[in-house]
Amino acid sequence: MQKPLRCLIFPLLALLLVSSITYAGFFDSLELALEKEIGHSAYQEIITKMNVVKLPAAEEERLQSIFRRLVNVCTRKEELRFTLTVIDNETVNAFALPGGYIFVHTGLLSFVESDGEIAGVLAHEIAHVDRKHGMSRIKRQVGMAFLLQLILKKSEAREELSKIGTIAINLTQLGYSREEEYEADRYGAYFMEKAGFAREEILNFWERILEQTGGKEDPAFLQLFSTHPPTPERIKRIREL
Ligand SMILES: [Zn+2]
Repeated sequence: MQKPLRCLIFPLLALLLVSSITYAGFFDSLELALEKEIGHSAYQEIITKMNVVKLPAAEEERLQSIFRRLVNVCTRKEELRFTLTVIDNETVNAFALPGGYIFVHTGLLSFVESDGEIAGVLAHEIAHVDRKHGMSRIKRQVGMAFLLQLILKKSEAREELSKIGTIAINLTQLGYSREEEYEADRYGAYFMEKAGFAREEILNFWERILEQTGGKEDPAFLQLFSTHPPTPERIKRIREL
């Protein structure tokens, strides 16, 4: 190889490497902005359709402080502003929207027997956001190219964004794949232990659910658990972590 050409190769390679990193970073930041927009739009829809509850101050403070402890140990704590909203509904349920919007039903709050149990459920929901499960489903559903178009012409795209917000809510209600559920269990157990809660607590929670439902679908638990993997299998997997 001639010397001048050889001299050029390394700078060119370096340039290529740097630009591909910047390119990836550019798309990551677009995707993050989009996740926040979609999450916010879905959040707005939920709080207008469902009854948001303001708990008595001491209870609210206790719940939010458990939530903060968990958020503080998750991977995406810097890039998202996680929030926890309580919904007046008797079913034992919790769910998460892209962008860090977590919801918990009053039915779940009455069902749990300790701070550790509620921490376990919240950690599981935080893990769905942390591993971007909601966003991957949306990307699969509507396609990344379409999503990018939305963010690039943001001002005219409000209406489309709110439609995607609705899709996000529907997908959340449909549930995640089994593999995503096991992953959320795994990360959830890790977050709760890192935040100072015993993993045993979430196992107690699942075992009580199993006892009460006999492993069958139950309307009181339906939304959260019908789409989840079989309870004995998830208990076994969490125990083996
Ligand atoms: Zn889940």
